Amino acid sequence: MSRNLEIRSALVTPSANQFVISETWLAPPREKEALVRLVGCGICHTDLTFRHQPAPNGRPRVLGHEGSGVIEAIGPDVTGFLPGDHVVLTFLSCGQCRGCLSGVEAACEMFLPLNFGGCRQDGSHALHDHNGPIHDRFFGQSAFSTYAIAHERNMVRVPTIAPLELLGPFGCGFQTGAGAVINVLKVPSGATVAVFGAGAVGLCAVMMARYLGAITIVVVDVNPQRLELALTLGATHIIDARTADVVHEIRRICGAGVDFSLDTSGHSAAMRQAIDALGWRGVCGLVGVTPGSTDVAFDAGDLLVKSKSIRGIVEGGSAPGSFIPWLVDLYLKGSFPIDRLITLYPFEEINRAAADSLDGRTIKPILVMS
Ligand SMILES: [Zn+2]
Ligand SMILES: [Zn+2]
Repeated sequence: MSRNLEIRSALVTPSANQFVISETWLAPPREKEALVRLVGCGICHTDLTFRHQPAPNGRPRVLGHEGSGVIEAIGPDVTGFLPGDHVVLTFLSCGQCRGCLSGVEAACEMFLPLNFGGCRQDGSHALHDHNGPIHDRFFGQSAFSTYAIAHERNMVRVPTIAPLELLGPFGCGFQTGAGAVINVLKVPSGATVAVFGAGAVGLCAVMMARYLGAITIVVVDVNPQRLELALTLGATHIIDARTADVVHEIRRICGAGVDFSLDTSGHSAAMRQAIDALGWRGVCGLVGVTPGSTDVAFDAGDLLVKSKSIRGIVEGGSAPGSFIPWLVDLYLKGSFPIDRLITLYPFEEINRAAADSLDGRTIKPILVMS
């Protein structure tokens, strides 16, 4: 395969609030890359945040970083993948830094340029339209598209018996919530946990905390439907942050405070509560922060006296190559019911899916490419 492939992509320009599905051209895979025919792509809040970021030269972007699909062709020197493989696309990592070499690609020191750079490291693009190159390579995929070029380092093979169109969010949202709990916080059986935010990331954290045997799982949100859903997925207590004194309520439920808290909301008030609600030697994980945008005040004396810790967590501290297949297997066995979070939309209805996600109607929208 040597010619450019005519495909369809959801373009976004910073001036427009809407995605516009347009004809684009995808160049063939280069060294270590593959051409993937996408069957689905989840929408994550990072996509909706980046929709409003200015792109250099005013050129459009193609976002989307929870793609799943089938490998159609492989470029030179790809090892471990073949055409026909079912794959989940995840974040890209360099493979050479200390984080990658320690086996935790989520701690890659090149995470920002590789996933948000808008092009390959050599400045080239895989995607073009009539007017020139498009800012692509978002999380090494730009999967709001009918096809994508991915790198062998951000493809994870999944079993063909699994429903491929539902699996894309394992590459970001699902592994972020579940991984924070099992890989980083390492919540043990019998622990008490508070999860702030009952979106896809928070609810995956709840499911994983239940799987690991946490005895008390408190979920805090402002959306009553999501709180009710949390109760069916493992939450033992729910708190509506609009009406309750959250920290007081958590202490009432857990005595001195929780062993672990996880903020998935990214709101500074919720992060402050997640820190304040910890008991002695408690650990607070933060996963919902947009870099450079949020200051959080906390009581440093309380942190010291109670030996509390605060951890920033990217992509669930995951090594996707082993973690995602394990998590998919957990789903297939019924212990990680992510299908309860998903609403499917045709790719053409990407703007409705994005709107439903923002207003809280849908927890995890997935676009299905026909
Ligand atoms: Zn790295
Ligand atoms: Zn994401």
